[in-house]
Amino acid sequence: MKTIETVAEMVQLAKAWRKDGKRVGLVPTMGYLHQGHLSLVAAARLDSDIVVMSIFVNPTQFGPNEDYAAYPRDLEHDQALAEGAGVDYLFAPQPGDMYPKGYSTFVNVEGVTDYLCGAKRPGHFRGVATVVSKLFHIVQPEKAYFGQKDGQQVAVLRRMVADLNMPVEIIARPIVREADGVALSSRNVYLSAEQRQQAVVLSQGLAKARDLFIQGERDGEALKQVVTDTIQSASLAKIDYVQLVDNLTMAPVDRIAGEAMLAVAVYFGETRLIDNVLLAIESE
Ligand code: AMP
Repeated sequence: MKTIETVAEMVQLAKAWRKDGKRVGLVPTMGYLHQGHLSLVAAARLDSDIVVMSIFVNPTQFGPNEDYAAYPRDLEHDQALAEGAGVDYLFAPQPGDMYPKGYSTFVNVEGVTDYLCGAKRPGHFRGVATVVSKLFHIVQPEKAYFGQKDGQQVAVLRRMVADLNMPVEIIARPIVREADGVALSSRNVYLSAEQRQQAVVLSQGLAKARDLFIQGERDGEALKQVVTDTIQSASLAKIDYVQLVDNLTMAPVDRIAGEAMLAVAVYFGETRLIDNVLLAIESE
C-alpha cells in the first residue's frame, strides 16, 4: 500500500488508471479507522482493480462549535489497518492542499439537507458535498462506498451525483455494530465508561421499533415513541432528534408506505451519536 499526501500526485495517478481502463473504487473517510470503515474496503475490494481510501478530517463540514480540532487522528495506525484490509492507495492530503488560499467553491444540495442532521448542523452537508465532489474529481472512481450509519449523507450524495451528472455510483453498506448493538463510530472514544454502557439505548430503541414494524405497525408516532422511551431510560442521554423520514427525500413521514428511515441523534455529554434503521415495505 502506498500513501499519497498531495492532490497533485493523486490526480496524476488517477489519470493514468483511467487511461489504462482500471476500475477504481473509493472509500472516503475521516480516519481513526474501525471495522465499519474496513467493511467498506471489503466491498470495494470485490468490485475494483484499485481501491483508494481517503483519510481527511474535512474542516468545512464541522461547525464553529464542533469537534474539528479534537477529532481523533492516528495516521500510522490507520495505515496498518488500511493495508491489512486491502487498500492499495491511501490518500491523506493536508487541509491547505484541499482548500488553498482563495478557495471559494461549494456544493449545496437543497431539500434533502433540510431535515435531521442537516437542520441541526447548518453547513455540515455543504462541507460533505464539497469535499466528496472534490475527491471524485481528484480520484475519478467508478464507485464510491459509504456507510448507512450516515444515512442522510447517502441520500445527499445520491442526489448530488444525479443532479450534477457525476459518473460515480454511490454504494451504501450496512451499519457495523459492536456486540451489544452500538454502532461503531470514531467518536465512541469520547464516551466515558458509563456513557458507553448507556449508548446501547439507541440501537435497542431502533430494534424495538423494527420489531413493531415487522409485526405490522406503520404509524410514525408509535414507532418514534418506543425509540424515545427507550432512549429516555438512560439517565445520561439527551435526545437531539427521533425522526421517521422518507429514505429518498429525507422529509418526515407520518406513516410508512414505501421505504422509510427511522433515525436518531442523541447527546451523551458533548458527544453526539447517530444511528438509524431502514423500514421498507416490499412492493408486491
Ligand atoms: P467517517 O470517517 O466517520 O466520516 O466515516 C467514513 C465512512 O464510513 C462513512 O461512509 C460512514 O458512513 C462509514 N461508517 C462509519 N461508521 C460506520 C459503521 N459503524 N458501519 C458502517 N459504515 C460506517
